[in-house]
Amino acid sequence: MVFNSIMNSAEFEVCIIGSGFAGLCMAIHLRRRGISFVVLEQGSDIGGVWRDNIYPGCACDVPSHLYSFSFAAKTNWSRTYASQSEIWDYLKGLTDQYRLRPAIRFNSKVSEAVFDETNQLWDVRMQTGETLTAHVLISGIGLLSRPAYPKLPGLERFQGHTFHSARWDHGFELQGKRVAVIGTGASAIQFVPQIAPQVAQLHLFQRTPPWIVSRNDHPIGVWKQALFRWVPGYRRIIRYVIYWGLELRAFGFTRKPHLLKHAQKWARQHLEASVADPTLRAQLTPNYLLGCKRVLVSDDYYPAVTRSNVELITNGIAEVREHSIVGLDGKERPVDAIIYGTGFRDPSLLTPLRIIGRNGIDLNSAWRNGAEAYLGITVSGYPNFFMVVGPNTGVGHTSMVFMMEAQVHYVMKCLTLLRERATGVMELQSDAQARFNRKLQKQMERTVWKSGCRSWYLDENGKNVTLWPGFSCDFWIKTRRVETRDYIFTKI
Ligand SMILES: Cc1cc2nc3c(=O)[nH]c(=O)nc-3n(C[C@H](O)[C@H](O)[C@H](O)COP(=O)(O)OP(=O)(O)OC[C@H]3O[C@@H](n4cnc5c(N)ncnc54)[C@H](O)[C@@H]3O)c2cc1C
Repeated sequence: MVFNSIMNSAEFEVCIIGSGFAGLCMAIHLRRRGISFVVLEQGSDIGGVWRDNIYPGCACDVPSHLYSFSFAAKTNWSRTYASQSEIWDYLKGLTDQYRLRPAIRFNSKVSEAVFDETNQLWDVRMQTGETLTAHVLISGIGLLSRPAYPKLPGLERFQGHTFHSARWDHGFELQGKRVAVIGTGASAIQFVPQIAPQVAQLHLFQRTPPWIVSRNDHPIGVWKQALFRWVPGYRRIIRYVIYWGLELRAFGFTRKPHLLKHAQKWARQHLEASVADPTLRAQLTPNYLLGCKRVLVSDDYYPAVTRSNVELITNGIAEVREHSIVGLDGKERPVDAIIYGTGFRDPSLLTPLRIIGRNGIDLNSAWRNGAEAYLGITVSGYPNFFMVVGPNTGVGHTSMVFMMEAQVHYVMKCLTLLRERATGVMELQSDAQARFNRKLQKQMERTVWKSGCRSWYLDENGKNVTLWPGFSCDFWIKTRRVETRDYIFTKI
């Protein structure tokens, strides 16, 4: 028991919501420190997005040797960019290695967590009607667990099959079918090349073309895997090389966006080398600065779009009929299935989950003018509540796993402080949160995400509450220690 006698009335010292990369990282660190915890997971297995996104071609777009935990290196990744199944297996392996399963309650969707001011505990309620109490509440609910569906006129009349890429229906036989794909984002550019050779006809509806750079994915040979396994220094060097190579991009994204025009030239060359038809090329050329929306990596998307059975449609959908889609060009295209590659819902709110802090204030309402936290981790008015992957901790240029580890390190520091000071509760000072976010949003002004495009990164007021506006190494430095003057510590 880490919190000793001051913590005697809750069922658990820590309650973690979610068992994706974030929840598992937190759980492993707590297990190593001997702190009791429970993980509540709405799904029937661990893995988060790597459990849910089982579409053909699903893979990471950051090299696997960086898209994995620093403390649990996998030496035998089979490719530079591992597939969904390999990443999911990696997470399942860690769950077993650290014997986490007994601490995870599956099919336990948290509907509400209320801070009980009298007992200074979190009351956590699940949709099943069960409740539990914990001294510390940690959210690891992720940003990308709620698929976004497009509002298409007449969709309710459609008689064919429909599904979202994050809920792929492998029971539906695509062979020989006429398929419409809506959206050309990160998921679509991975599954379109996989399904294009199977289907009779693929109508690809694009709203905005993404900038795409070459991925250069390739298998990792056995001799190289052996080097990773037997020469730890080699693995570390490769990880550093990948990390710093990607980190350099933050300079353009967050400091000097005009430099991205050079990177844009390479992306344009990639397009020109892959697509010969000038009309198609023009349709695939973005009209915003590279980086303003997520930059995608692919070697096979452009070749797929040039196939004779693939049609790129850029002028929108007028209506969906029983067995067809009518474009704004007036053309009716018969289709058997519609696949939504439309990504995920606005990440700026905490989902239907309600977190009620001091004075009964729901975090979603505290965030009505835009989500904000301190280092994306703590929020004033929400004592002993921590987030892993909270507001402004996303990155477009490097691995999210790196950012998560930094946040988990910070949370562990906070838990140590609670123990050392023999206090039961720590709470962020409101002026620390205000100061931090003023500076953060000022820094945001000079980033590429503010260069004029409308992106998923921005909330409805145009505020970027998603991304970290600097280098990830800067975030890492800021999460090394806890500024105790920014917190109020209260004895129970
Ligand atoms: C297809 C895809 C590819 C990606 N590729 C990359 C990549 O290459 N590099 C990169 O850095 N990032 C990538 N990402 C981003 C990815 O989201 C993060 O890297 C990371 O996996 C997120 O982990 P997480 O634990 O924060 O969230 P998630 O993986 O979303 O896990 C959250 C978990 O919380 C559970 N949960 C949510 N709400 C509740 C509730 N109310 N009660 C109980 N449980 C709940 C969910 O079921 C889920 O299991 C990708 C995302 C997707 C969708």
